[in-house]
Amino acid sequence: MTQAVVLFGSPGSGKGTLANLLKDYLKAPHISTGDMLREHIREGNALGVRVAATMQTGALVRDEVVDRLVERRLAEPDAQAGFILDGYPRTREQAERLCNWLDSRGIRELVIHLIVDYNIIVTRLAGRRQCPRCGTLYNMVSNPPRVEGVCDLDGQALAIRDDDRESVIRARLAAYESQSRPLIEFFREKGRRLFEIDASDRTPEALLSQVCREIGSPEAGLRAEPAVSG
Ligand SMILES: [Zn+2]
Repeated sequence: MTQAVVLFGSPGSGKGTLANLLKDYLKAPHISTGDMLREHIREGNALGVRVAATMQTGALVRDEVVDRLVERRLAEPDAQAGFILDGYPRTREQAERLCNWLDSRGIRELVIHLIVDYNIIVTRLAGRRQCPRCGTLYNMVSNPPRVEGVCDLDGQALAIRDDDRESVIRARLAAYESQSRPLIEFFREKGRRLFEIDASDRTPEALLSQVCREIGSPEAGLRAEPAVSG
């Protein structure tokens, strides 16, 4: 059985942090469209050049581009037993396409909606820093590195992501409100399995344990295994 998890929520709702914890538990890859697109931008390839301008304004990258990126990624060997989608789908068209893709393979996904207060989101995004070398995310308020401004893992100076600048944050949140939030209604109408959780003031670990409980419940139709370390 394929364990498919779709993490849904506003930018800054903690999808990436939860995905990082969840991927060890499910032993499934974390597939983040944002990370994939930023990787292309870093590489400076044709796709990267094309999406850079869009992402810097906070607007959503075109459906065809992300659809193709996700479908290619889902075809890779490590995603066959399961995957965690983060940042996809973001539009109605993407959601329909994904649901058809899942249905045609008999995969029953679990959509997890992380609900976070708007003001908390803005504060979180403004405090976010990323290591340009290894990609680890930090937050100056909620998840600071051990030494200020420096990555715990490799000592690299942390940076503000281009799409985490204040004006861009507002645009990203506006795009989420108008194009992505309505997908919750879509998931409900279509009878997809949806788990909604208030993630405003839960620690990532508390969130993980609740999500794991949901994944492990028989209704979820997902196979949960206890995390094995080492
Ligand atoms: Zn680093």
